[in-house]
Amino acid sequence: EVITVSELARKMNLKASELIGKLMEMGMMVTINQQIDAETAEILASEYNCNVKIVSLYDETLIETEKDNDEDLRERPPIVTVMGHVDHGKTKLLDAIRSTNVVAGEFGGITQHIGAYKVKVRDHEVVFLDTPGHEAFTLMRARGAQITDIVILVVAANDGVMPQTIEAIHHAKEAKVPIIVAVNKVDLADANIDRVKQQLSEYDLIPEAWGGSTLFCEISALKKTGIDSLLETVLLQAELLELKANYTCRAEGKVIESKVDHGRGIVSTVIVQRGTLRVGDAFVAGVYPGKVRALFNDKGEKIDEAPPATPVEILGFTGIPDAGSPFQVTETERQARQVGAKRQELEKQGEAQNVKKITLDNLYDSIQEGSIQELKVVVKGDVHGSVEALQTALEKLSTKEIHLVVIHAAAGAIVENDVNLAAASNAIIVGFHVRPTPKAQMIAEREKVDIRKYNVIYDAVEDIRSAMEGMLAPDL
Ligand code: GDP
Repeated sequence: EVITVSELARKMNLKASELIGKLMEMGMMVTINQQIDAETAEILASEYNCNVKIVSLYDETLIETEKDNDEDLRERPPIVTVMGHVDHGKTKLLDAIRSTNVVAGEFGGITQHIGAYKVKVRDHEVVFLDTPGHEAFTLMRARGAQITDIVILVVAANDGVMPQTIEAIHHAKEAKVPIIVAVNKVDLADANIDRVKQQLSEYDLIPEAWGGSTLFCEISALKKTGIDSLLETVLLQAELLELKANYTCRAEGKVIESKVDHGRGIVSTVIVQRGTLRVGDAFVAGVYPGKVRALFNDKGEKIDEAPPATPVEILGFTGIPDAGSPFQVTETERQARQVGAKRQELEKQGEAQNVKKITLDNLYDSIQEGSIQELKVVVKGDVHGSVEALQTALEKLSTKEIHLVVIHAAAGAIVENDVNLAAASNAIIVGFHVRPTPKAQMIAEREKVDIRKYNVIYDAVEDIRSAMEGMLAPDL
């Protein structure tokens, strides 16, 4: 079991230089393309509160990933997701960006909705995921498909920070994705930009003018003002991230949506993350092998190849892959079929979920093993007051050995999205006078997310304290 430093960094959303520095602290001198063993990767990951999972279903030994040489790496466009409270203008913003970028005379100016689109900003490009909101973002993360580089947080200037604004902040922070704030609806008479900045400061999103480091833009998605400067800001943020990809290796990416189209058959949109995808390439998408019969861009035009950070519609699937499935070009068609068959077999054996999830029952052992230093908790409760009380009480449980972090707290039932967040972040869920919805319950069982329900705050606090100390009574 080996992985290169650069690959591990990519998976952990960190710069390779950061990992190299950390390894040096641990007494290991490595280069970016050096391979490290699973054990070292695990120790490294735990330093950053990530879990290394030895997953069999999408085991990369099934398909050998081509290595990156430094000279293969070139700048790639950033991939952006728009988040924010309902009605704050996410859809309007995505439409405004799309329409301001349509070159006059271009095929009727029509872009197809394929789940993502690419725009030109000066001589650079930016990719936008077309499904706004943190639900899609978190669902993809829960499936291990973290593709967003930058989040644009839309906050309506008249409304200010609202519950879903806060949720979006939590989701983006949890994913370690930088946030650019777009204060929208500045055309309205009751717009209050300073109030938005004030409110966001409480969440550590502080504008540079106030001594912080968050990039803010003032826009009107309706009047299409400030859009260019927002795009420039995205480029600026992207530059800081030093996003690079190999343009020459076999293509790899993630499925972002799939559909069955009359006449065309199965059509999936894939975002290529590295390599260049070409017509004729053999591939495996999730458990399905295939061969690229045709490629279409976000304008519906037939194309021959798709470089990194390109959303592309693909024809040539043998089954409908789920959103979030890994997409990998293989050396031969035979290999694609073999890998697909192997994965289908593993999936049948239920090995797809070969991921150790944290629960109150295994918490103490995990602390002892040193595999976690942080217990992440999602708190849901019937009313705002009890949620706050429970959050405060739980956070006080932090010890030297284990830090307790509430990654999301809100009033309301335990819903699908809470479970996805917990699954993606390896968190447990504590419900106070609330239950999971049936759908949330189903996902929790599948993803093995621990949901604990309480009617007394004291009981919740005591249970978690006992679990941290290894004194939890068995859950009967
Ligand atoms: P979403 O739920 O966040 O996707 O919000 P929408 O994009 O659907 O916008 C919600 C409403 O706000 C719509 O009626 C939009 O026309 C309106 N809206 C969006 N942006 C602006 C803006 O910049 N100014 C004004 N005045 N209205 C806006």
